[in-house]
Amino acid sequence: MFSSVLIANRGEIACRIARTARRLGLRVIAVYSDADARSLHVRMADEAMAIGPAPAAESYLAIDRLIAAAKRTRAEAIHPGYGFLAENADFAQACREAGLVFVGPPPAAIRAMGLKDRAKALMEKIGVPVVPGYHGERQEANFLRQKAYEIGYPVLIKPVAGGGGKGMRVVERHADFDLALEAAQREARAAFGDARVLIEKYVSRPRHIEMQIFADRHGNVLHLNERDCSLQRRHQKVIEEAPAPGMSADLRAAMGEAAVAAARAVGYEGAGTVEFILDGARGLNADAFWFLEMNTRLQVEHPVTEAVTGLDLVEWQLRVAAGEKLPLAQHEIALRGHAVEARLYAEDPERGFLPSTGRIVALAFPQGEGLRVDAGVETGSEVSRFYDPMLAKVIAHGATREEALDRLAAALEATVVAGPRSNAGFLAALVRAPDFRAGAFDTGFIDAHLSELIAPPGFDAAAAAAGAERLFEQEQARFLARRPSGAPSSPWDATDGFQLTGRRRLAKPILVNGERRLAEIEYSARGLAVTVEGATAALDAAVVGGEDAVYVLRRGRQTKISLPDPARAEAEGAARDGVVSAPMHGRVLAVLVGPGEAVRRGQRLAVIEAMKMEHTLVAPIDGTVAEVAVVPDAQVAEGAILIVLAPRR
Ligand code: ADP
Ligand code: ADP
Ligand code: MG
Repeated sequence: MFSSVLIANRGEIACRIARTARRLGLRVIAVYSDADARSLHVRMADEAMAIGPAPAAESYLAIDRLIAAAKRTRAEAIHPGYGFLAENADFAQACREAGLVFVGPPPAAIRAMGLKDRAKALMEKIGVPVVPGYHGERQEANFLRQKAYEIGYPVLIKPVAGGGGKGMRVVERHADFDLALEAAQREARAAFGDARVLIEKYVSRPRHIEMQIFADRHGNVLHLNERDCSLQRRHQKVIEEAPAPGMSADLRAAMGEAAVAAARAVGYEGAGTVEFILDGARGLNADAFWFLEMNTRLQVEHPVTEAVTGLDLVEWQLRVAAGEKLPLAQHEIALRGHAVEARLYAEDPERGFLPSTGRIVALAFPQGEGLRVDAGVETGSEVSRFYDPMLAKVIAHGATREEALDRLAAALEATVVAGPRSNAGFLAALVRAPDFRAGAFDTGFIDAHLSELIAPPGFDAAAAAAGAERLFEQEQARFLARRPSGAPSSPWDATDGFQLTGRRRLAKPILVNGERRLAEIEYSARGLAVTVEGATAALDAAVVGGEDAVYVLRRGRQTKISLPDPARAEAEGAARDGVVSAPMHGRVLAVLVGPGEAVRRGQRLAVIEAMKMEHTLVAPIDGTVAEVAVVPDAQVAEGAILIVLAPRR
């Protein structure tokens, strides 16, 4: 075994790899961009090297800088983690040429599986079933439209260079094909620098089930059972579990065999995942699964496999990379109990899952039997707009699926993320959803149940009351600390309250998630009691005090309470209704209206691209376009005013 490893990644996966490398006695070297100088993965390492500015292209994706860092720190091996350069054959090649061990497959294997069209052609050749469709060279719109017609609607347009669900478009009808193709190509070019697509039959009620495989340099290839990753949003995994509900021994053996054949066909080494799609409408059958793609790296969801097999996949990766043989044979691979993972993101499910950036004011995870948390941040960390906003993965293991799901739901409900908003409450609701628990789900589950999974519109008044109570207590404490002796004993003693048998009541404005509300305060000898819209303070809430706001966490959801800044509130109040601002940092792709134009509420006004995804901005009111403050291609900052509408009267 080599004695040192440089981890060319950040966040939770860098921390995860560091833990195992440490345990094996390796010297662990972290790299970091300017945005990450103080982050958790840097502090977990023995040594750390700065590699450049915050944008990933100039740091975590800069091959030459990473190789230079490895040389300077005399690292013997490089682990790429997932994302970033993990599936970049040129990086694997550059490591080799620099005399470094790349912890991953040979460059040729990465190349063979790198493009979905070529990978599918190869799988067809070796007899692994692939999703029916067109994956040839031709890319003219007319030709692809004809192919879609022949395949039969619905079809899926998919970038050949794709990943992370980006650029995919489901097309239901022939008439919609051209627009969908254009959008898919545009997104593919932006995300992957390659606009080519393939067309697939869209499998109805799809189940995503993948096989974890491992191969060594000595010709041994085996699989570590399946993971079910069917709970997805925008074709991205949200919850993953092992084993797959409804899996039979026959199907597992057949899928395992196909996955091992795929790995052998490309001369694979190390950890890999072969993804398959199944038709949930037909039940899980040993003769009805189709190859989607192979991910030539460690997968985000590998911990569920670790939980049910009792293995450390990163340890296996390091051993294989060092030339060792796989430590077990196929029949020695265990499958014990059930494991489920949830991806905790800094995002706002109630606002279309927009990433939510900023400083983490508080972060706390429960501990307990069968629970594992892989986190990449801690209290005080900054969630920056430069990287994927995943905060942590919460993994629960139990003797049964039931037990694992109960543990996970309880853990998510007890998770505290204050500052940026998180999807903890959404995830908990998902894990508790009856149909999911009954095993009746497919990749459309989240979309179909969205309104039950996100919080109802409006706000949690009981949480707001709890937050306001804390805020007023703080204000009172500050007041008392400053009070010259003899002054009234409460900031509200003065003129604006009224007295009722020794109690005082008054109403004060507060901001609940930025919106003005009234809090009614009752002040008595026993202290403060606050009601907001008739609700008294929730008792099951965690209240976290921040600098100028308090955050209330209740059942995984955050309510932010602050006091209005009187000057600003007035200026905003008048104009706010017709102002359309950027929901996040991004680039303007299209402006669809001009000054003077009449628009209706809900009408599309502009399209911006952020985090490589398109977001359409719509009119919040009926009105007339008073001002267009941007042009196509402009970069805009979060909150920047893009378009102003004058209300129609
Ligand atoms: P996986 O197939 O391993 O579950 P996904 O397909 O959900 O991963 O992720 C899409 C892409 O984004 C993958 O290339 C993955 O490695 C990358 N990715 C996901 N989360 C992160 C993260 N927190 N940091 C960096 N890359 C990420
Ligand atoms: P990526 O590289 O973005 O991960 P995949 O080919 O793995 O792309 O597909 C991602 C997800 O999209 C799958 O997990 C599945 O939910 C959905 N998907 C892909 N192909 C199909 C298909 N032919 N029919 C239905 N859903 C599909
Ligand atoms: Mg995939």
